[in-house]
Amino acid sequence: MSSDRIVQELRWDPVLGEWVMVSNVRELRPWHPEGFCPFCPGTPETGHGWDVLILNNKYPILSEEPPKLRPHKFFKNAPSYGKNYIVVETPKHDLDDLSDLTVEEIRKVITYVIDKYIEELSDKRSVYFLYFRNKGKEVGVSLTHPHSQIYVLPFIPTKVRRELTNALNHFKRYGRCLFCDLIDAEVSDKERIILKSSHWIAFIPYYAHWPFEVHIYPLKHINTLNQVNEVMAEDLAYVLKKVLCGVKNIFENPMPYTMVLHQAPMRGHYSYYHLHIEIYGMYRTSGRLKYAAGVESGAGNFTYDDTPEEAASILRDTIERKCVIQ
Ligand code: ZN
Ligand code: ZN
Ligand code: FE
Repeated sequence: MSSDRIVQELRWDPVLGEWVMVSNVRELRPWHPEGFCPFCPGTPETGHGWDVLILNNKYPILSEEPPKLRPHKFFKNAPSYGKNYIVVETPKHDLDDLSDLTVEEIRKVITYVIDKYIEELSDKRSVYFLYFRNKGKEVGVSLTHPHSQIYVLPFIPTKVRRELTNALNHFKRYGRCLFCDLIDAEVSDKERIILKSSHWIAFIPYYAHWPFEVHIYPLKHINTLNQVNEVMAEDLAYVLKKVLCGVKNIFENPMPYTMVLHQAPMRGHYSYYHLHIEIYGMYRTSGRLKYAAGVESGAGNFTYDDTPEEAASILRDTIERKCVIQ
């Protein structure tokens, strides 16, 4: 962009009714010499002696001190107050994926994220704590050192807002949690279940959008990360290791994926909402990516080639063959 004005703001799409995060700050991203990794131990920012490290993203899309807004006579904008963190999951640069960490190491990552959530609760300007992980150059990951990200947002993300609306409608109608009910349905169907541990259940939902889409729910009805206790965190580490190992190994090339945590907003009353994790494995066949193309991005509806039942059986089989955990 040629303008030297810093723009970092939320712009409201009045047609779809959702926020777009606009920032040209990222374009100042400096060039790093070949082989330099900003997440490895021993840089001025990272130092030594850690297992998990939460860093401020240096080129954020949100800011704790967003620039002054330029108001528009028709359109609505808002300050992009928020935070972007990088969760460096291990000091070991050469690991490929979260599933290559030990269960204990993954548990530590989860604990750090929970602690960060609790810390962020005290910031009254924060509305939503979004934890996610992108894997694979196909989904734009340039730094291969294992890491995930946190966006602390000043608004409720669109997808979560839709989930909250539907969950509230279900609750008003039946007096029950939508997600607890759908877990029951998945358990009774059985064929899309990937695995069940003492505290969590993983399945490819009946209505999956992405080729290998796995949802992980706590069996206990909880709303937010601070309700995940130590025993649950340890058990989740085990489930994540198995599921992500399976997703990675379905085809010859490691599967690109996005993982996201959906939880209730940080403030307000959302007891009808049920925290969960969604993983979108994006290969249809070996090396062939499912694109959000014409129908998906143009119409907003997904087409699913094959069936979620078949995908579940392939994933279960991969886990059994390739993901034995002691
Ligand atoms: Zn590194
Ligand atoms: Zn529930
Ligand atoms: Fe969700």
